[in-house]
Amino acid sequence: MAADTEPLRTQADLLRRGLADLRAEDAELASILDAEVTRQHRTLSLVSSSCAAGPRSLAASASALVNVTVEGAPGRRHYSGCENVDRVEALAIRRARELFSAQYACVQSHSASNAIYQVLTALAEPGDTILGMALEQGGHLAHGRVEAFAEANYKAVRYGTTSQGEIDYTEVRQLAMAHRPRIIICGATAHSRVVDFQRFRAIADEAGAIVLADISHIAGLVATGRHPSPIDAAHVTITCTHKQLAGPRGGLILSGRDADTKVPGLRSSFRRVLEQAVSPGMQGAPAVNVIAAKAAALGYAMSPPFDAYMGRIRATADEMACAFMARDYEVVGGGTENHTILLRLRGGISGSIAESALEKCGIIVSKKRGPRENRSSFAANGLCIGTGSIAQRYVDAQGCRQIVDLVCRILDQVQPHGEQKYTLEPVLQEQFRQQTEALCTMYPIREYGDR
Ligand SMILES: *Cc1c(COP(=O)(O)O)cnc(C)c1O
Repeated sequence: MAADTEPLRTQADLLRRGLADLRAEDAELASILDAEVTRQHRTLSLVSSSCAAGPRSLAASASALVNVTVEGAPGRRHYSGCENVDRVEALAIRRARELFSAQYACVQSHSASNAIYQVLTALAEPGDTILGMALEQGGHLAHGRVEAFAEANYKAVRYGTTSQGEIDYTEVRQLAMAHRPRIIICGATAHSRVVDFQRFRAIADEAGAIVLADISHIAGLVATGRHPSPIDAAHVTITCTHKQLAGPRGGLILSGRDADTKVPGLRSSFRRVLEQAVSPGMQGAPAVNVIAAKAAALGYAMSPPFDAYMGRIRATADEMACAFMARDYEVVGGGTENHTILLRLRGGISGSIAESALEKCGIIVSKKRGPRENRSSFAANGLCIGTGSIAQRYVDAQGCRQIVDLVCRILDQVQPHGEQKYTLEPVLQEQFRQQTEALCTMYPIREYGDR
């Protein structure tokens, strides 16, 4: 019982004791937690959003800050006892502003979808029109799909992409002029081309709309100058912190040169209405432990190792796209300009069959409808893959080719029966799974940046 009575004076005491107690007193949960770490090590994630949170973010989120309930902003709280949470939130804000060269940053949103809804609530009235990218063309659920909040509260109009996977800016402009949306959302979930934020702004200025950029998928590329920044082009930018920023699950709201200008039709500035919309508008107490984890991730994102990590994300994406094309697979747009590769499958294999067969062999991918594809997402023959995770494994050019080779060999052995049923010999499946594990062992997940 000695361990139970030892004082817990430091963050290290808390983490050590927590791990020891879990192991000793709650083996059931501890074993699941360990099993998930093992699963992540033994499977190859080619999901375009996936990046493992860095250990310092994990440690910061497991901190005593979770015990503090606060509301409001640093220095303007509705509670006392806030000296450290104020310092943590101010630090996260400072780092977010510095990393993205923003005038305004809010670090409280619990997720990117929350951040989007907070921005929509701040800037639009129910019934207003929102122009966003169609889900099946690469957009995100929160941008205006039928079931989502946005569609329930606003009139959603959608634009798509060209056959080359480029945003159809002509269509964006036509829709903007015809529907006069209050807000145009730009940014995507399954998109392999550079987004021209300036062009969105020019269209919005012509149509009298506000631009909301969502860089959840490309935040690291933006932060390191590998993708044009929307901060000054858009009125407001949001991102999640758990994809390329490799931080905790959460969202950020940012604004650049428009932060202190008046919102069209309102008497307050963007900064003021955004602040109000987050808290008390849609959120109670922020998760300060998660804000600390965001600060850790943002700090890391300003370091040379993070820059190198983003360099690897881009290089491996080019490498993989070339390797697929060398195997005669069609890559939408003939390559990629970011971390995402959109593939078209062949031989009657649908995206959902490929997703399931590859998962059985230890490789995780996402099915995805191709540009201008009318079939359902189950019948469509598109696959979306990305390099966030394999770049954390330091997979080199040769490794990229080996992974592509394995994926192609698996798909060659799949016999489709219709849109969703298929056969893959169990003996082969087991062999493929071992080959995936061998690659995972050759390229283990490391604390990114420790080389
Ligand atoms: C992942 C993603 C989101 C949603 O992030 P959550 O934090 O899970 O809500 C929003 N927008 C885009 C473009 C995304 O890719």
